[in-house]
Amino acid sequence: AKEQGRNAFSFFSEELNREARERRHLEGSLHRAFANDEFFLEYQPQIELRSGRIFSFEALVRWQHPEDGLIYPNRFIPVAEETGLIRRLGEWVLRTACLQCRQWQQPGLPPVRVAVNVSGHQFNQPGFIDMVDRVLEETELDPELLELELTESSLMAGAQESIMTLIDLKVRGIHLAIDDFGTGYSSLSYLKHFPLDRLKIDRSFVRDIVKDLDDRAIVEAIIAMAHSLGLRVLAEGVEHEDELELLKERGCDEVQGFYFAHPLLPAAVEENLKVR
Ligand code: C2E
Ligand code: CA
Ligand code: CA
Ligand code: CA
Repeated sequence: AKEQGRNAFSFFSEELNREARERRHLEGSLHRAFANDEFFLEYQPQIELRSGRIFSFEALVRWQHPEDGLIYPNRFIPVAEETGLIRRLGEWVLRTACLQCRQWQQPGLPPVRVAVNVSGHQFNQPGFIDMVDRVLEETELDPELLELELTESSLMAGAQESIMTLIDLKVRGIHLAIDDFGTGYSSLSYLKHFPLDRLKIDRSFVRDIVKDLDDRAIVEAIIAMAHSLGLRVLAEGVEHEDELELLKERGCDEVQGFYFAHPLLPAAVEENLKVR
């Protein structure tokens, strides 16, 4: 047993070492990545079920690392958050997405919004609103065409202050969504004070909605609650037709997921907009 304990310990410490090394490695190259223009955005369509129309695209950041190849945000956003680089990255994402969205507006076609993810580390930072104002001014995007996605946990972290910040954003006409709903803890009594437009049901509930009756019940309850608060409901991670059918029956308003489209490069977005 002693022997085993030692092995387990050395296994864990090796694992921790490996993670620490990876973090240091990414941290070092994150600084360089800005200078070298290594980030880019993909855009995933958000579809309104009633009309079948793409009403918005969610911007998702990627990192083309010169040696390590393509890196997805779940690996580097946490590192950017720990090092404070998230503010710089977040501002870059917002500016790039706003510029892109302006190009999508076409005469004679309904307006298309862009949805941008905001880390709690950005949102709960003094100066966040000023940064948003500056970017909107520089890019000349109509604030009505911007949606910010805030996670449940970052809103609840400082719920009182969150309400004030959300109101400040809302008066500018910016749309607001609560992301990953159902994964954090939400105080429902706060939720009604947040001036939100949209609630995004986390993929973990959608994934099993066909087979798992508990998840289905949770989704039904979330939809009913959101509607009673006047929020639109978007289900994320829709991959199959049977999931879509269930969501439609349950009165879900909007969807996003591989069933409709993967995140797309800007050229492919423009193709999609032309077809419609
Ligand atoms: P999220 O905001 O929940 O974004 C949805 C994630 O699910 C994206 O992963 C998207 O590619 C993926 N996805 C969409 N449809 C499907 C589907 O049908 N099936 C499956 N399996 N996955 C689907 P991605 O791009 O790797 O992003 C992961 C997370 O990283 C995002 O989760 C978000 O929390 C964060 N993130 C992405 N871009 C940014 C950003 O610019 N800023 C910040 N702060 N966070 C970001
Ligand atoms: Ca999101
Ligand atoms: Ca999500
Ligand atoms: Ca997520």
